Amino acid sequence: MPEIVPLPAFQDNYIWTLRDRTSAAVVDPGEARPVKEYLAREGLSLVAILATHHHPDHTGGIAELVAMKKVPVFGPKGEPIPALTHPVGQDDKVEIPELAASFSVLDIPGHTRAHVAYYGLGSLFCGDTLFACGCGRVFEGTPEQMLHSLTKLAALPDETRVYCGHEYTLANIRFARTVDPDNAALAAREERVKRLRDAGRPSLPSTLGEERATNPFLRCSEPVVVESANKYLGARVANPVQVFAAIREWKNKS
Ligand SMILES: [Zn+2]
Repeated sequence: MPEIVPLPAFQDNYIWTLRDRTSAAVVDPGEARPVKEYLAREGLSLVAILATHHHPDHTGGIAELVAMKKVPVFGPKGEPIPALTHPVGQDDKVEIPELAASFSVLDIPGHTRAHVAYYGLGSLFCGDTLFACGCGRVFEGTPEQMLHSLTKLAALPDETRVYCGHEYTLANIRFARTVDPDNAALAAREERVKRLRDAGRPSLPSTLGEERATNPFLRCSEPVVVESANKYLGARVANPVQVFAAIREWKNKS
């Protein structure tokens, strides 16, 4: 099984890199330089590029990487991904034979119109849809779509490792504690993540079990989260979509 390595990019992006002794595939290369440096330093050959959505901080390095080596570029059909060779959508398979890796594609619209996730090797690459203890902003879809996408991801097994696009975890946990103040698992998570970050280490991957226990955006039916949404709105929410929309708006303003 390939090793999965984070290459930091920009302020807080991660370019997730799957590698064995000779080959590497990258997920969401927002810039080419960290990838090129890593490949050169490790003596690796690039074999594939996977994009979760079209935002430039996830795709900005693709053109320069394929100019260096012509490799398959997988990305959502229906979004403008540079140099896209393999447009994919729900239930499509992504095969990377050089790494003996295979992924299923999940459509998870909301952050963008056709955002996808890649699920395989017990791992989930979910871009800017599910974050550790948070979720992406709803730019091109509706709160209902976004909640549906998050619920779909939450149905994967507990032990699934979650590789998201940004290191936002500590700020997300701080917000989560205002929504879900008495959650002991969340308090423990904050301590764990602080220690990792103080040591200069990524907070990722997390696991889906951990997200289900602590991520307020996956807990829109929990009474404590519903109550917090009511307080924020000063009115009673009627359903989980309204809870989601309320806490997403609250987070945007916090
Ligand atoms: Zn994005």
